[in-house]
Amino acid sequence: MRLSRYFLPVLKETPSEAQIVSHRYMLRAGMIKQSSAGIYSWLPLGFKVLRKLENIVHEEQVRAGHVPMLMPTLQSADLWRESGRYDDYGEEMLRITDRHGRDMLYGPTNEEMITDVFRSNVSSYKDLPLTLYHIQWKFRDEVRPRFGVMRGREFLMKDGYTFDLTKDDALHAYNRHLVSYLRTYERMGLQAIPMRADGGPIGGDYTHEFLVLAETGESEVFYDSAVTDLKFGDRDIDFDDKAQCQGILEEFTSKYARTDETHDEALFNAVPEERRRTARGIEVGQIFYFGTKYSEAMGATVQGPDGKPVPVEMGSHGIGVSRLLGAIIEASHDDKGIIWPEGVTPFHVGIVNLKQGDEEADAACEAIEKSIEALGLEPLYDDRKERAGGKFATMDLIGLPWRITVGPRGLKNGVVELTSRRTGESEELSPEAAVQKIAEIYANHRVSGL
Ligand code: ATP
Ligand code: MG
Repeated sequence: MRLSRYFLPVLKETPSEAQIVSHRYMLRAGMIKQSSAGIYSWLPLGFKVLRKLENIVHEEQVRAGHVPMLMPTLQSADLWRESGRYDDYGEEMLRITDRHGRDMLYGPTNEEMITDVFRSNVSSYKDLPLTLYHIQWKFRDEVRPRFGVMRGREFLMKDGYTFDLTKDDALHAYNRHLVSYLRTYERMGLQAIPMRADGGPIGGDYTHEFLVLAETGESEVFYDSAVTDLKFGDRDIDFDDKAQCQGILEEFTSKYARTDETHDEALFNAVPEERRRTARGIEVGQIFYFGTKYSEAMGATVQGPDGKPVPVEMGSHGIGVSRLLGAIIEASHDDKGIIWPEGVTPFHVGIVNLKQGDEEADAACEAIEKSIEALGLEPLYDDRKERAGGKFATMDLIGLPWRITVGPRGLKNGVVELTSRRTGESEELSPEAAVQKIAEIYANHRVSGL
C-alpha cells in the first residue's frame, strides 16, 4: 500500500476527550472516529487490525472444532420473554419497535437465539457435542461508555455456545474453550490470565474471565505472581482429548487469580507474601458453563440414548474482539505511539523514503515494496513528499513493528536501514538482506487480512 493512496487521517493534537492511552492513540492514528457516544466508525487502519483479530479468533475456534455461523443483530423480544430475560436485562438492552408494533431489540448477546436455532434443528443426542459460534456486533446501552472501544455501546464480540448431553461433556467443552482462548490471546501478543469469576445469579464454579493486566483496567484483580510465568507456547493439542484439556485448565487455573467479585482474602493470604499481587485488569473474554438454564426454559431437549428427552447442557463463551484492540495498545506502546505485536500489525513493514523524487531512492523503495509483497506480506510505503521527521513520527505513531528506511546516502553504500519499533535498534543491510530478515521475522506470524 502506498500511503499517498491510503486513508490515514492522523491527528497532530492529542484529543482532549480521550482519558487513556489506547483511546488517544486510536484517535491520533486515524483508526476510529466516534459517531456517537460509544459508537465508532472503523477507519481503514483500525478496521484492518479488527479484521486480523477476527481472523485469529476464527482460526483458533475452527482449530478447536467449533463451527462458525452468523446470527442477526436485531432479535425478536419474544425469544427473550421465553427465557425470562426480556424484563431482567434492564436498561442496557436497546429496545426497538418495528412498523407493525412488534417488540424487537438489538442483541446484547445470543443465548436465546442460538437455543432457538438448536431446538428447531437438533433432536437427538447423536448430533452432540456441538459448538456453534459467531462474531457479530452487539449493543449494550452502557451507562458510561468510555475509553474508546474498550467500553463501547456497539462492540464486536465472538460468542460461542456449546451443546452437550452430559455435564462431563459440557465441562470438556468449557476446557476446550479455555485452551483455545489461551492460544488466541498469545497469538495476539497478549498475556490474558484466566481468573475465577462470579457466576452471577446462575452461580456455579465454572466461569473464568480472561484479564490483561493494565493500570487502566476496570477490574481489580488479585493474583499469585507465578501465574504470569505460565506460557502456552507451541503445544500440540488434541481438542478431543479430555485429559489433556483438563490438564491445561489445571495448569493455568490452580494458582490464585481472582477478580474483586470472587476475591477471598484468606486464600490470597495463603500465597507467599512476595508473590501476592494486587493490580488492575482488562476483561477480554469470559467462559461460562451454565447447565440447563436456557434449555429448560426454552424446551431445548434431545432424545437421550434411552429414548427419553433430556434438556441439553449448555455453556457460552465470549471474546471481546473490538475491546482487544484497546487492550493490545494498553499493553504495548510507548510515548511515541503504538507498538503492534507482529501477529496483529495492520502492515508488516513500513518503508520510508527519505528523498521522494530521487530516482534511485524511489526505485529502491519500489523494489523493496515488491519483494515484500512477493513474500505474501503487506508493506506500507510512505511515498509522500514530506520531511523525514514527519514520516518517522507517523510510522512511530501507527506502530508498525519494522521499518525500512531508504535514502540516497545509504544507497551509495548499497545499504538501507532496518529498525525495530520496539527496541529502536537499527541495522544497515543490503535491501535484499533486509527483506530476507523480514521474511524470517514473519515466518511464524502469517495471518490473512484485508
Ligand atoms: P463487562 O464486565 O466489562 O461489562 P461483561 O462481563 O458484561 O463485560 P460478557 O457478557 O462477558 O461481558 O461479554 C464477553 C466479552 O465482551 C467481555 O469479556 C468483554 O471483553 C467484551 N465486552 C463486554 N462489554 C463490552 C463493551 N461495552 N464494550 C466492548 N467490549 C465489551
Ligand atoms: Mg464478562
